[in-house]
Amino acid sequence: MKLISACLLGIKCAWDGTDKYRNGKVIEILRNENLIPVCPEQLGGLKTPRLPQEIQGGDGKDVLDGKCTVNNINGEDVTQEFIRGAEETLRIAQQFRVSQFIGKSGSPSCGCGQIYDGTFSNKPIDGDGVTTALLKRNGIKVIGEEELVQR
Ligand code: SF4
Repeated sequence: MKLISACLLGIKCAWDGTDKYRNGKVIEILRNENLIPVCPEQLGGLKTPRLPQEIQGGDGKDVLDGKCTVNNINGEDVTQEFIRGAEETLRIAQQFRVSQFIGKSGSPSCGCGQIYDGTFSNKPIDGDGVTTALLKRNGIKVIGEEELVQR
């Protein structure tokens, strides 16, 4: 059993309410797997559509440690929603003893290895999203969509 960012499967949970993050290669590779789709931002109580959000001055580990926040493009603090979404996702992962989470690249929740720098100007930096960081801390393997497709 694997968890996957729901938007990769074409579910319309992206911040703008579209299916723009659907990844046909990921769907093809995982077609015969048992998958649980999750959207941590929705699980944390955020609406769809919602404003773009980025981690401010750090990565998902820093958010979990209280060292920085997640804000939307209007400057509103959505850190608690991100942490709640990560905890709900972890609860699902533990309940179903999932072996792996496949995360959407660049996301402040689901990103694995790369996120954005908090300036909303498309500048990538190294780091994990908040949900990815919490899952890794609890021993769950996380891979990004790009790593899955490149295998
Ligand atoms: Fe939801 Fe994660 Fe996809 Fe963002 S990247 S829309 S939080 S599943």
